Amino acid sequence: GEGERLQKVLAKAGVASRRAAEEMIDQGRVEVDGIIVREQGLRIDPENAVVRVDGIRVVVREELVHLALNKPKGWQSTMSDDLGRPCVGDIVAERIAAGQRLFHVGRLDADTEGLLLVTNDGDLAHRLMHPSYQVSKTYLATVQGEVHRSIGKILRDGVELEDGPASVDKFQVLEVDAGRSLVKVVLHEGRKHIVRRLLDAVGHPVTRLVRTHIGPVVLADQRPGTLRVLGRDEIGKLY
Ligand code: URA
Repeated sequence: GEGERLQKVLAKAGVASRRAAEEMIDQGRVEVDGIIVREQGLRIDPENAVVRVDGIRVVVREELVHLALNKPKGWQSTMSDDLGRPCVGDIVAERIAAGQRLFHVGRLDADTEGLLLVTNDGDLAHRLMHPSYQVSKTYLATVQGEVHRSIGKILRDGVELEDGPASVDKFQVLEVDAGRSLVKVVLHEGRKHIVRRLLDAVGHPVTRLVRTHIGPVVLADQRPGTLRVLGRDEIGKLY
């Protein structure tokens, strides 16, 4: 016959083993094109059938998902948290279809806000994490002290950190006011706490840090705790 057996489709989608999928069908938990299916062995067109388990859409041929999140301050970058702290997984939860495995690309410190990508696109994640692709990230940092413009040259030339030298691609002082400053930092490396450590090293501890860009992807005016689906054009530019 044509098509693929329903329990096999469910297993392929990562919902459950074929055996367990048969049980789900028995229990009336599986719906195809809006109709609950209780017979075993129904053949469906996996590309076009709308399959749901417990009402949740099953992505049969895993479509790639690319989300841009504005991580709020105080939230973990992770998809789950053993200690029950708020995490990015909570924001994404309702976007995940059964069997889909999304993960975050890189991390932000809990105290850092801003742009974090979440995807199931392993190739893209690899690319973005790999130093040789040199994807630049932009941060806005509020720092203690009045930053002198000469700091830019020092940071571009590079400073010595405890785990080796580090430098920025661009540095701009945006505001200096009453003992604190707002600066923009562009760099392409991803060592832990790198922006905080660089600014500490030049005598300006960070009090607020927001990531605004990852390569071509811009946070813009997206509110903290929200996500948006990246456009095709953005994904194209990321690759
Ligand atoms: N640099 C930092 O110091 N913290 C971040 O979260 C990201 C970059």
